[in-house]
Amino acid sequence: DPGLYIVATPIGNLGDITLRAIEVLRGCDAVACEDTRVTGKLLRHLGISKPLWRYDDHSEHRDRNRLVESMRTRAVALVSDAGTPLVSDPGYRLVNDCRAEGIPITAAPGACAAVMGLSLSGLPNDRFLFAGFLPAKDKARREMLEELSVVDTTLVFYETAPRLLKSLESIRAILPDREVAVGRELTKLHEEMRRGLPDGLMAYYEANPPRGEIVLLVGPPPVRVMSKADGDTLLAEALETMKPSQAAAH
Ligand code: SAM
Repeated sequence: DPGLYIVATPIGNLGDITLRAIEVLRGCDAVACEDTRVTGKLLRHLGISKPLWRYDDHSEHRDRNRLVESMRTRAVALVSDAGTPLVSDPGYRLVNDCRAEGIPITAAPGACAAVMGLSLSGLPNDRFLFAGFLPAKDKARREMLEELSVVDTTLVFYETAPRLLKSLESIRAILPDREVAVGRELTKLHEEMRRGLPDGLMAYYEANPPRGEIVLLVGPPPVRVMSKADGDTLLAEALETMKPSQAAAH
């Protein structure tokens, strides 16, 4: 059927593609992708051959319009280089335009590095905030971490190996007591998930310079445990308000 099909692709291990994703890729008329070489390779691996159309959110408005118009008569799959399109990847403008134009949209969901990082880290994930990539510049990165320091959830970031130590350094400066998890090369041969305080992780990655792709997670602020003195004061105040003399006065 004509329309837009958002298709998740593997984040490393080529086995991580769903049966439905393959079915959609096999059945569609064209595949819109970030990089035709990367997607061409995946399709060859799956034994599928389709016209590949390059798309990114910076594509000219005119090109996007043409793509949206083509979906009135064609089934177009949208993929990114890895994982779920629109999660730190192109697609947002296209989906938004398709919605506005009444083009049918569905998705074949699948791998996403942020979600896999959350699952593997063991950090609280009843609530989390996905914050994309931390800024590359020191000042901006610290400011963003300051801003996020009041958020009472696990924080999830995408990271690159060359920047990991800089980011850990900023986290150590601003959130020194937070539990941090580093997920590296997820689903791949050298998959690794390390947890610790920023200081310990920095020491580790200074001794073992990281390579590959990385998800960085920062646990929520520690629960404030009430001291016994605070508890006693609160209890005394509560008892004060419940004094029989006052109760009788009501
Ligand atoms: N859309 C993708 C997804 O659903 O995960 C993310 C695209 S984003 C441009 C690329 C970033 O995702 C990498 O810099 C890294 O932070 C993270 N990433 C992708 N694959 C990964 C993997 N196998 N292990 C760890 N992180 C990964």
